[in-house]
Amino acid sequence: MAMPLSSKEPVTPLTQRHLAPQTGTGLVVRRGELLKIIDPTGEQVSDLISFAQEDPREWLSSGRTIDYANTIYLTTGHTLYSNRSRPMWTVVEDTVGRHDFLLTPCSPETFSIIYKTTGHHPSCFENLVKALAPFGIAPDAIPTTLNVFMNVEVAPDGELRILPPRSRAGDHLVLRAEMDLVVGVTACSAELSNNGTFKPIDVEVHAAPTAAAARGAHAAPASA
Ligand SMILES: [Zn+2]
Repeated sequence: MAMPLSSKEPVTPLTQRHLAPQTGTGLVVRRGELLKIIDPTGEQVSDLISFAQEDPREWLSSGRTIDYANTIYLTTGHTLYSNRSRPMWTVVEDTVGRHDFLLTPCSPETFSIIYKTTGHHPSCFENLVKALAPFGIAPDAIPTTLNVFMNVEVAPDGELRILPPRSRAGDHLVLRAEMDLVVGVTACSAELSNNGTFKPIDVEVHAAPTAAAARGAHAAPASA
């Protein structure tokens, strides 16, 4: 009789991408699969956006998600909704507990308007445009991103404070896809959001857990 797989055994991801600092990537995540965003060194933000694969006019909506969660701080157990109010993701694991869903991806204009930067500055928006173009997603279709690990606090007077991410090396966020999705994800390019330095981000897609694995220990024989 085959030995049951231990839950401690390392699991090989279906897809694994290492995002160099200030870059992005595009990928498809199927319904039921798990998307894991990992901060390998700590204090690094990753901007994430998704579109329904069957119709990219359906996109991950900050407004709908915040409406239904009734909080701006989304974490394990929360559902992330589309503009059509359908569940796109469920947050299944969160080792940090602080992410932002208020602010848009940093763009060339972010740096010229807020930071008065002159000349070209890499940005999440440009990286998402590049990563999503092969999937037929136009720049104007990219809305507010889920800014994974971004630490934004709201003062009583409404002022926003962008603080260093609370993530430490190895911290991660795991999302379960509730529909087939086209996903854009970055290693953020904004100095202020990342405590002054640019670091990589690791992205993994894991297969949908089988029914047996989901039942966990209850499904396994009681042998050692
Ligand atoms: Zn950014």
